Amino acid sequence: MNKLTADLTVSKAKLDEIADFFVKTATSSLAKQTERGIPMIPTYVTKLPTGKEKGVFLACDLGGTNFRCCSVVLNGDGTHKITQDKCHIPEEVLNAKSHVEFYDWLASCIGDFVAKQHPNWKSDQGKLRMGVTFSYPVNQTGLNRGTLVRWTKKVNVPDAVGRDVCVDFQTAMDRRNIPVYIAALINDTTGALLARSYMAGESVHTLLGMILGTGTNAAYMEDVAKITKLPAGTTQHKTMAVNTEWGSFDNDLQVLPTTRFDAAIDKLTLNPTVHMFEKRISGMFMGEILRQMLCELHGKGLIFKNLPAGSLDKPFGIDTATPSQIEADASSDNIEVKAIMRDVFGINPTSEEAHAVRKLSHGIGKRAAYLVAGAIGGVVNLTNALEKYQYIDIGGDGSVYEFYPGFEKHMREALRLLYGEATEKRFKFGIVKDGSGIGAALCASLSAEEA
Ligand code: ADP
Ligand code: MG
Repeated sequence: MNKLTADLTVSKAKLDEIADFFVKTATSSLAKQTERGIPMIPTYVTKLPTGKEKGVFLACDLGGTNFRCCSVVLNGDGTHKITQDKCHIPEEVLNAKSHVEFYDWLASCIGDFVAKQHPNWKSDQGKLRMGVTFSYPVNQTGLNRGTLVRWTKKVNVPDAVGRDVCVDFQTAMDRRNIPVYIAALINDTTGALLARSYMAGESVHTLLGMILGTGTNAAYMEDVAKITKLPAGTTQHKTMAVNTEWGSFDNDLQVLPTTRFDAAIDKLTLNPTVHMFEKRISGMFMGEILRQMLCELHGKGLIFKNLPAGSLDKPFGIDTATPSQIEADASSDNIEVKAIMRDVFGINPTSEEAHAVRKLSHGIGKRAAYLVAGAIGGVVNLTNALEKYQYIDIGGDGSVYEFYPGFEKHMREALRLLYGEATEKRFKFGIVKDGSGIGAALCASLSAEEA
């Protein structure tokens, strides 16, 4: 038991190694795309909001099961109002025979939404500007230009692949005379960066937007001069947001800690040997790490003597909400932990067992937070942020970040190990709610300033 939690500990030396390696691999990926390196994708978003952005913008977010339409009012003082509708994507649309059919459905949702939220919008007022949040791999060539590399999750519309997402979507809206102009195509992590920056205002520089939900990712502002893989003349601007896709950090496992549980999980996945950082820290995997550990302890006869047959056998059978809720029970007799274990595993645990499961849940969450801090240290060092800014401001979105107990506290412990106490105090963390909607709206607003 103690051995297991020790395996999850991340030392100062390891944190330094992670931050250093992040700088090294990120630097080379800014120069040249590599097959297995961290992707470091240019976003064509060339400035951060100041907080003074104002106006009405639309945003939409194509997820795996829902299509969200939002109307965002930016008040110009770091505050906003968001109104949104969720449309469930029908099976026949997920498997549409052609891109025309697929985008036509998206356009019809936008049309209905605009008719409902902006019934008095007249075409002589011009078009409503919309930012599109799109969490599928796109080869972006401009702020509102990008070809679809492949579908993931549940969408399967083969003839949309290789085509420009914005062009096809815009054409569909034009066919229906919907007064909307697609101004920007972004992903949720860039949205979190922009939304946090808007809320933080002009006096604070936001370093990073990060997602810690089902998956994980982060975006930050980089000097265009350092993104040498961008073709010459791509932009006149000096900075550009980079979508790190840090879930793929260190796929070759040069610095990341690897337990036998991590190795076993990787083999169970549909994408072995990639997304190695994500497999240690995100919601899709932390529950499974706990399951792997409990299976081993049970197999050795150390816990759960009366476990009903099969209750631990299902791969990915434990949601990350389970260790998170288990850790949240701070009572001395672990009443909540025992109740959760009855619900999830169908056993009445002894106090020692409940205590042990809570300790493992703590170790899994703490390791994730330490590894995230190591990667944050990488971005801080890569951008010389400590020399440039008084505060290192970071916005986070996602259930793991929001709900896993002690996540920020543990990140701060790790940052103290990396930089010392005085520097750790310069870090500010905050939750970005609705980051993708607000971020996409901001992006539409920022692009209007330039037009
Ligand atoms: P998405 O990734 O789809 O944007 P979320 O940010 O809500 O959505 O993340 C969902 C992930 O968070 C799931 O993998 C789930 O296991 C995990 N999760 C859900 N509830 C909690 C919780 N209370 N604590 C920690 N993780 C949670
Ligand atoms: Mg999310």
